[in-house]
Amino acid sequence: MNKFTKITASIGPNSEDKKTLTEMVKAGVNVFRINFSHDTGEVQGKKIDCIREISKKLNIPVAVMVDLQGPKHRIGNFKTEDKYPLTIGQKFTFDSSDKPGDSSRVQLPDSDVMESLKVGDRVLLNDGKIEMQVTKVSKGKIETKVIRGTEIWSRRGFNLPDTDVVTSVLTEKDRQDLEYAITKKPDWVAISFVQKPEDVSEVRDFITARTSLPIKIVAKIERPNAVERITEIASVADGIMIARGDLAVEVPFEEVPAISRHIIRECRKMNKPVIMATQMLGSMVNSEFPTRAEISDVANAAYLRADSTMTSEETTIGINPVNVIETMNKILSYADKDAIENPYDWSRVENVPENDWSRSVASMAYLNKASAIVVFAKDTVNAIQISCRKPDIPIIAVCKDRLIASQLCLCRGVLPLYNPDLFAQRLAFESAELFSITSGKLVIVDDDKISLRTLD
Ligand code: PEP
Repeated sequence: MNKFTKITASIGPNSEDKKTLTEMVKAGVNVFRINFSHDTGEVQGKKIDCIREISKKLNIPVAVMVDLQGPKHRIGNFKTEDKYPLTIGQKFTFDSSDKPGDSSRVQLPDSDVMESLKVGDRVLLNDGKIEMQVTKVSKGKIETKVIRGTEIWSRRGFNLPDTDVVTSVLTEKDRQDLEYAITKKPDWVAISFVQKPEDVSEVRDFITARTSLPIKIVAKIERPNAVERITEIASVADGIMIARGDLAVEVPFEEVPAISRHIIRECRKMNKPVIMATQMLGSMVNSEFPTRAEISDVANAAYLRADSTMTSEETTIGINPVNVIETMNKILSYADKDAIENPYDWSRVENVPENDWSRSVASMAYLNKASAIVVFAKDTVNAIQISCRKPDIPIIAVCKDRLIASQLCLCRGVLPLYNPDLFAQRLAFESAELFSITSGKLVIVDDDKISLRTLD
């Protein structure tokens, strides 16, 4: 096994053709992220069909993750497409009028945002380059003082780190996108701007009202109120994404590494896979080589035992998406191997109750120096739980169901094997052989039965 840490790759204009997607799978992609902030409907559906076809042809399980845009807020238009000057300390007003904006005011189209803002709240525009503070709230009008920033222009996105926005996590656009996406049977659906556990339940209800397929939900953590409630959110979600792009705008950026470590630790306790996202190899949008800092960032995600790293613009609009995946694969493979050979401050069973059965599986594998753990996976539960103990050997998940196999692609150290025959006959040795594991011991997990067998 080359790498334990999985790769989630965002796809876009420079990576959506069949040849590039095929090369990306061969280079190490485990999950493709399809971002509904950009294309919608059938355009996205064709990409999902293409990924499924490639996965089948190569006989390599690959997961599809649909990422919904969520309630990303934007200001209205200005009189022209020019940039309008701002002065520190000046007054700037947001209102509900659709008149084009100028240097003193602009429309704020979302009425739920208007109603949620309070005096003292910060309004951050354009990835935090502009900061304003609310000084007065009245009906249909929010007055602010400019704290940072020198110019403002049309349709800038904004973040509200101090505000609990009373709104549904699913916009009308998200509902239409999700309605369509469900017909394409995605493995995972990622929800943006989650604020509370009820947001995850709302999406779960939307999905279960439309399909009996157990589509899994990733909650993207990018708001401070979500960080505060990470344990509750993780308990109702199936996985977590550390969405560092918006997160680093909404919280002081220096806190992001500590928050990331905390989230990985919590998710591990709660048996939930976690994805480290955004700008991991960002410079490779325009470069064939990563920066030294990026190499360390990717490796550190592996050392922290994140389940997956993620690419963004570097594989959507970058000059060479296949090279990005090869680069990430190389860094992860080395870091994973090193982490196993040179354990540093890592406790295999940290914070997991002593009588937890998955801890016994990991301990049995460790004490017996097993070559692999084989799980007969009728669903994803056992394989995910064992994966969250982060054993240093592969977890072969023999699946009777293609959906289970592709969902498990996201989980650290899991080698999903879709093979109903091997599953039906419980053929652990034959399954291990398919991954060139032909000697040593196997820990075999079949429902609640755990056994140890020696390969010839
Ligand atoms: C992020 O903000 O880091 C992120 C992954 O979300 P998006 O790319 O949808 O903005």
